[in-house]
Amino acid sequence: MSKFNENVFNATNLTVRKREKLFRERNLDSLRERAVAKRTTSLENAQSLWETTAEQFRANGITVFFADTVSSANRFISDNMGESKLIVKGKSLTTEEMELRQVLERAGREVVETDLGEWIIQQRNELPSHFTAPAIHLSAGDVAEMINHKFGENLPPEAHALTAFARRHLREKFKCADAGIIGANAICADPATVLAVSNEGNVSLSARLPEKLFIVTGWDRIYDSIEGMEGVQRLLSGSATAQEYTSYVDFFRKPLPHQQAFLVVLDNGRKALMASEFSEGARCIRCGACLNICPVYEEVGGHTFGKVYHGGIGALLTAFTGKGRDASSIASYCLRCKTCEPSCPMGIPIADLVAQLSESYPLPFYLSLPLKILGRNMGVVSGRGQQNSGSKSASESASGSGVCSDSNSNPAPASREAVFIGCAFRNPLMKKERKEIESALSRFFPNAEILDSGCCGMPHFYKGQLSAANDRLESIRKMFNPYDRIFLPCSSGFAYLREYLGDKIQLMSVAMAETAGKIDSDIPVFYHQPCHLKTGPGTSEKADLNQVIPFSEWENENRCCGSGGTYFLQHPRISRKILSRKETGMDGKFTIVTSCPSCLLQLRRVFGKARVVHSVSFMSESAHGKERRFFTAYQAAAGEEQKGT
Ligand code: SF4
Ligand code: SF4
Repeated sequence: MSKFNENVFNATNLTVRKREKLFRERNLDSLRERAVAKRTTSLENAQSLWETTAEQFRANGITVFFADTVSSANRFISDNMGESKLIVKGKSLTTEEMELRQVLERAGREVVETDLGEWIIQQRNELPSHFTAPAIHLSAGDVAEMINHKFGENLPPEAHALTAFARRHLREKFKCADAGIIGANAICADPATVLAVSNEGNVSLSARLPEKLFIVTGWDRIYDSIEGMEGVQRLLSGSATAQEYTSYVDFFRKPLPHQQAFLVVLDNGRKALMASEFSEGARCIRCGACLNICPVYEEVGGHTFGKVYHGGIGALLTAFTGKGRDASSIASYCLRCKTCEPSCPMGIPIADLVAQLSESYPLPFYLSLPLKILGRNMGVVSGRGQQNSGSKSASESASGSGVCSDSNSNPAPASREAVFIGCAFRNPLMKKERKEIESALSRFFPNAEILDSGCCGMPHFYKGQLSAANDRLESIRKMFNPYDRIFLPCSSGFAYLREYLGDKIQLMSVAMAETAGKIDSDIPVFYHQPCHLKTGPGTSEKADLNQVIPFSEWENENRCCGSGGTYFLQHPRISRKILSRKETGMDGKFTIVTSCPSCLLQLRRVFGKARVVHSVSFMSESAHGKERRFFTAYQAAAGEEQKGT
C-alpha cells in the first residue's frame, strides 16, 4: 500500500527548483552531450578498461576482486575483514543492493553508516528512500524522536542540534574503527583512480582512518580517462543536489602506509544490462534527478517501490540486478509520462525502456482486454472534411457499413492531407469533442481526408504489448503513405507517431492556430501541458497556441495530472493524489485547454466538464464566431456544475 509523504513532496520540489536554476545559470545542459558520449564509449570498452585498471591498482598495492554475484562479493569482503569488529561505512547503493551491512552484522560485526541520512535510516531499520537522500521521507521531528527514544536524549527538532549529536556519536566510531567501506562514483582506468564525491567528510574519514579499506563499486562505474570526467561529475552534483560541486571529492590511487586496501567490482547483472537492448539504462549515474521530478515518486517516496532502486529507472536496474517480479511491481508504478527524461543528465529514455521491459510482465485483464480491442483495425474510411462537415461522421459510416479497408484498396486521395482521428475520440465520453473535430475540418482543413481506423498503437507500446504496437504502426504507416501531412487532435498519438513517421505528423491544434483569428476571453484560460509534449517537437504547443489564445499564467500548467491513460485504474489513489496538485490555487471561473484526451478526462474529474476543453474544440467554436456563446455557455455550465463530477 502506497503511503503519501509530504516531506518527500516538499524536498523533491525544492531540489527541482534549485536544479533548474543552477542548470540555467551555469548552462550545465551544454555538458550533457559530451558526458553521454564519454559514458557510452567507456561502457562499450569496459572489459579492456577494467583489465588496465586492475593491473595498475594491483601494482599500486590494492587487491582487486571481480565479483560475478552478490554472494561472491559479500563472501570476499567477509573473508578479508579478518578480526575487524567495528566497521565504518560510507553511503553506497551498490552495498545496499548487496545487503552488505546486514551480512556483516549477522557475522557479529558492528557496522556503522556514517552518512547522516544513512545513519538515520540504519537506526530506524529502513531501506534508503532515495538514491542520494536516503532519509528524504523524514522530517526533523521524526529524526529528533528517533534519537531521543534510542539514545535517551532530549533534542529539539532542529537540524543543527540533531547533526551535532550525530557528529559526536560518529566521531567516536571513526576513532575506533578497524575497517572502512566506501562506494565509488567513478573509476578512471588510466591513471587508475577511484573517485568518490560526498558532502559530509565521512567518506574521507571512513577511507583513511581504519587499517583496512574496502572500496565497493559496480562494473558500470568505469571511465577511460580523467579527461571529460569532470563534466560527468558536475552533472552528477548538479542533478543530485543542485550543487555545482559537492563539498568533498576524494581520490584514491593506493593504500595509505598503514593500510590494506581492496577494490571489489560487482557485476550482478550489469554486464547483461550493458549487452541488452536496454543498454542505454547502463549509463545511469544514480543521481536521482528522475526521482525528484517524477510525479509518482514525489507523492509516495522510495519505500513504496519496496527495493533499493526506485522509479522508472529502478524497474530497469532491479530487472537486471534483482528479481523479475520486483521489477514488474516497480514498473507498474511508472506512468510512462516521460516527465523525468529532460532531467536525466545521461539522456536515458526511461519511459520507453520501462515500456519495453514490461513486455515480459503480465497485464491485468482490465487493461489487456481493451488493448486487444483497440489493436484491431476499426475500418478505414476516408472522406473529405468539407463534405462530411455536419453530416454523418466517417467512423459512423464505417461502423454502419462494416467496411474495413486499407490504403491499398482506397482510391488515391485528391488531397495530400488527412486528419487521423485516433481511438480516444471513439470514446462515448468524447462524443462532443469528436463532433467539434469534424466541424473544424470545413474551416481549417477543407481538403483533408478523415482517417478513422482506431488506435495508433501508443497505448500498446507503453503497456509493453510491443508486437501489437508494431502491428498498429505498420498498418498506420501504410495508411498514411499517400499523404504529405497528417494532423492529429490527440497530443499523445502525435508525440508517439512523430517519433516513427517524422514531421509529416502534425499537431492539429498547432495547425489550426496558424490560421485562426485571435480569441478573446473574459475569464482566465489556462494551458495544461500533456506530459508527452514535454520532449520533442510538441514542446512549443503552448507558444504556438498563445498566438491566438490569450493564456493566463498557471504555475501548475506543466505538472502531470496523473492520468497516464489508464493509470487511474491501476493505482487510483496515487493517480488521484497527483491530480489533486493541479487544484492548488484554482478557484472561480476559468477554462483549461489541453490537447490530450486522456488528460482532459482526468482533469474533468476535479474541475468538471465545462471547465476543461480540448484545444481543437476551443478553436473550432471560436472560429465559427461563437466566442460569446461559447464562453457564456461554458461559464454558465461551470457555475452550475459541481466540482469533481
Ligand atoms: S516516466 Fe513518469 S512516472 Fe515513469 S519514472 Fe519517469 S516521471 Fe516517473
Ligand atoms: S536515470 Fe538519469 S536521472 Fe535517473 S538516476 Fe539515472 S542518470 Fe540520474
